[in-house]
Amino acid sequence: MSKIIDFQIECPDCGRQYQAKVFRTLWGDGCTADNFTSRLKEDTNMVTCPHCGHSFRLPLGLMYVDVKAGFAVWYEPQPDPNIDNEARQYAALFGADSYYAKAPRVKDWNEFKRTIRRYYTGELKANPITKFDFGSIKQQASKPATPQKKGGCLGVLILLLVPLAIGIALI
Ligand SMILES: [Zn+2]
Repeated sequence: MSKIIDFQIECPDCGRQYQAKVFRTLWGDGCTADNFTSRLKEDTNMVTCPHCGHSFRLPLGLMYVDVKAGFAVWYEPQPDPNIDNEARQYAALFGADSYYAKAPRVKDWNEFKRTIRRYYTGELKANPITKFDFGSIKQQASKPATPQKKGGCLGVLILLLVPLAIGIALI
C-alpha cells in the first residue's frame, strides 16, 4: 500500500497557501529495474502553486518499498527525525535487521533512483523480514496521535510543510 499525505504548502515564490497530496510511501511491487520509473515518476512529490504556477519537489522523506523484491529505500533530502521514529517502529515490527528497518537513506533524487535500480539488478541485497510482531502494531495503534508542534525555531521547511492528515490509499 502506498501512503499518501495531505500537505498544506506555503508557496516559496508567492507566499500563498495551497494543499496537495504527496506520497510518503510508494509501493513498487511488480516493478523491475527497467520499469520502476513508471511508478516512481519524475513528477513524484512535485507540487505546483495554483496561484502563480511555481513548481518544485517537496523536500519530504519518501520510502520506496517493494515487498516482493524485498527491499526498501528512503529518499531523505533533508534530515528527517520522523524517519528515525519509523525505523524504530519497523525494527520492532519486522526485526532490527530487516530491510524495512535498515532501509538506506539517500539525499539525492537521482542517487535514490540509482539505489533502487541496484536492488532490482541484484547488485545490492537487503535482509529479509525476520518477524511480524502483531503486538507492536497494537501498541502503536493504541498510542494517541502526537499533535504537530508549531514553533518559531523550527527550520523554514518545517514551517512550510504542515502535515494535516495521513491517509492510506491503494494504487
Ligand atoms: Zn505561488
